[in-house]
Amino acid sequence: MTVTATHTPASSFELDDDHRELSEVCRAFVEREVMPLVPAAEREGTFPVELWPKLAAAGLLGLGHPEEHGGTGGGVLALAILSEALAHASGGVAITPLVSAYMAAPHLASFGTPEQRRRFLEPVLRGEAVAAIAVTESGAGSDVAGLRTRAAPDGEDWLLSGAKMFITNAGLADVLVVAARTEDGADRHRGITTFIVDGGAPGLSLGAPLQKMGWHASDTREIVLDEVRVGSDRILGEPGRAFQQIMQCFEAERVSLAGMGVGLAQAALDDAVRYARDRNAFGAPISRRQAISHRLGEMATEVAAARLLTYQAAERCDSGHPEAATTVAMAKLLASRVANTVVDGAVQIFGGMGFMEETRVAMHYRDARILRIGGGTDEVQLEILAKRMGL
Ligand SMILES: Cc1cc2nc3c(=O)[nH]c(=O)nc-3n(C[C@H](O)[C@H](O)[C@H](O)COP(=O)(O)OP(=O)(O)OC[C@H]3O[C@@H](n4cnc5c(N)ncnc54)[C@H](O)[C@@H]3O)c2cc1C
Repeated sequence: MTVTATHTPASSFELDDDHRELSEVCRAFVEREVMPLVPAAEREGTFPVELWPKLAAAGLLGLGHPEEHGGTGGGVLALAILSEALAHASGGVAITPLVSAYMAAPHLASFGTPEQRRRFLEPVLRGEAVAAIAVTESGAGSDVAGLRTRAAPDGEDWLLSGAKMFITNAGLADVLVVAARTEDGADRHRGITTFIVDGGAPGLSLGAPLQKMGWHASDTREIVLDEVRVGSDRILGEPGRAFQQIMQCFEAERVSLAGMGVGLAQAALDDAVRYARDRNAFGAPISRRQAISHRLGEMATEVAAARLLTYQAAERCDSGHPEAATTVAMAKLLASRVANTVVDGAVQIFGGMGFMEETRVAMHYRDARILRIGGGTDEVQLEILAKRMGL
């Protein structure tokens, strides 16, 4: 199946036919292929590898990527829709392909040479290779320009040394996009370069999987680089300009994370509505208590608002709207917060059952928290908004 969603904008805040169809395709795919695998993935803490070829065959690894390299059409709005559908099943399962195809691979697609795209991007879009993006370090997260991993020239090659922290897909990755400092200068934002590094490169070692509060099915680790040798043909984009490249890729990444917040919140709301109808207390379903039904009404309103802003941010990215960056920051902030308030409401409605690991709302509760941190914290989004407001 090929996804045909185009860059046609959502009109009047309703999805157009292409995007509505994509949404249905994504939801059906997730229901059929992803949902049955979630309990084991959560329990075992591993991503179900059988999903890679299925995601690729459905065209769900290629959205927004160049068609000559295996892209399947669509843009950032299509990515928001996919992110929402995947996170409706599980944040930990969702984040694994989203990082590979939509947070790491866009660096290859946007800044790679034709040869780099052919060699490294195409296998990722075919679901035959997994990609990771390694920017964060223990001393530099929000402050990307503070990273200390270095790449030193050595003849025609470069030697990369340093350590990267919290890297999603580290243990699965065939290809890593690694940011390293190549020049020192007065302007910290210049002098950073991204390199394409093979997963098994000599000198590259992985920490044990980090034990996380949520996203249990995803693989997150520290990576240590000890004089990892790469050729000049592994430089990705313009030397010294990776800070700008990273910021550019953040826009779609943040829309994807906002979409995850919407999907996760919708899932928790759906479960809470079902539970409130079924659960009796004091001789009637708890959904008949105004305290509960009004809370559900508030949750539905919050999810709808987060979805609208996320779709608008995505559509503005696709259309090159001058205020796209503002709307992206707002959507990331709002959807992450809504995800957290809605999962909290859902757990409350479930009562004691909401505290049991076996319930899906407990999983969504654990998975929601990272959305306010990863890919730019709430505070980073607020800093962006304050700057754009001229404050
Ligand atoms: C599960 C997981 C997966 C991740 N995956 C990846 C990955 O694949 N690749 C990757 O490169 N990174 C990844 N990260 C890193 C993630 O993007 C960072 O954790 C995040 O950007 C925050 O950085 P930090 O943890 O260093 O926190 P810090 O930057 O140290 O922030 C600590 C606190 O200070 C606040 N703060 C910082 N600066 C300011 C400021 N100027 N004004 C106000 N408040 C401020 C922050 O908002 C936060 O509340 C992942 C993290 C996690 C937890």
